[in-house]
Amino acid sequence: MKRDKDFIVLLDPGHGENTPGKRSPDGKFREYLFAREVAQEIERELRKSGYKCERIIKCAMDVSLAERAKIVNEYCKEYGTNNVILISIHVNAAGNGEQWMNARGFEIYTSPGKTKSDVLAECIFEAAKALLPDMNMRADLSDEDHDKEARFAMLTQTKCVAVLSENLFQDNREDVAFLCSLEGKKKIVELHLQGILNYINKIKK
Ligand SMILES: [Zn+2]
Repeated sequence: MKRDKDFIVLLDPGHGENTPGKRSPDGKFREYLFAREVAQEIERELRKSGYKCERIIKCAMDVSLAERAKIVNEYCKEYGTNNVILISIHVNAAGNGEQWMNARGFEIYTSPGKTKSDVLAECIFEAAKALLPDMNMRADLSDEDHDKEARFAMLTQTKCVAVLSENLFQDNREDVAFLCSLEGKKKIVELHLQGILNYINKIKK
C-alpha cells in the first residue's frame, strides 16, 4: 500500500451526547456514540496502513456545525484543499424517534452539482453495496451517480472533498440490531475504509 504523507482523511462523527433525539426509540442505540466508535476504528485502520487520518471531534459533546466546518477548513489551509477529504458519519432516522419505523438502508450525500466529492461518494457507495448485499441501498440516480445531494453545512461550508454517510436507520429495528452487532459495526467501518482507499487510489492515478 502506498503511503502518502501529504494527504489527510478527516472524520466527523455527527452530533454529541447532549444532542436531543438521535437515538433508537428504546434509547439503547445512540447515534453520537456509534459514529464516534466507527470513526475511531476507521482512523486506527487508516493509520495502520500509513495514511494520515484525524477525527475532527474527539469529545462526546456536540460541537456546532460552524465550528466543525472551521476546523476542516483549517486543515485545508495547512495541507492544501486538494489534499484533504472529509467524511461525516451519521445514522439516519425516518420518524421523530418515538416509534420504530419501516424505512431502512444506506445512503450517502454530497453537495449539489458535479464535484470531486461525487467520486468519493461513489467509491463508498460501491463498497457499501458490496459489503451489505442484503441491505436496501437508497440511491438517487437522476444525475447518473448514486449519491443524494443536499446543502448540509458540512458539505457546503467546507472547502475540500466532503461526503456525509447515513449508515442505516436508528429507528428501524432490523437496522439497529445489525448496527449493534459486532459484524454490523465492522461492516460499516469496512465500507468506509474500502471506499476511502479506492478513492485515494483513483485520484493518485
Ligand atoms: Zn445525524
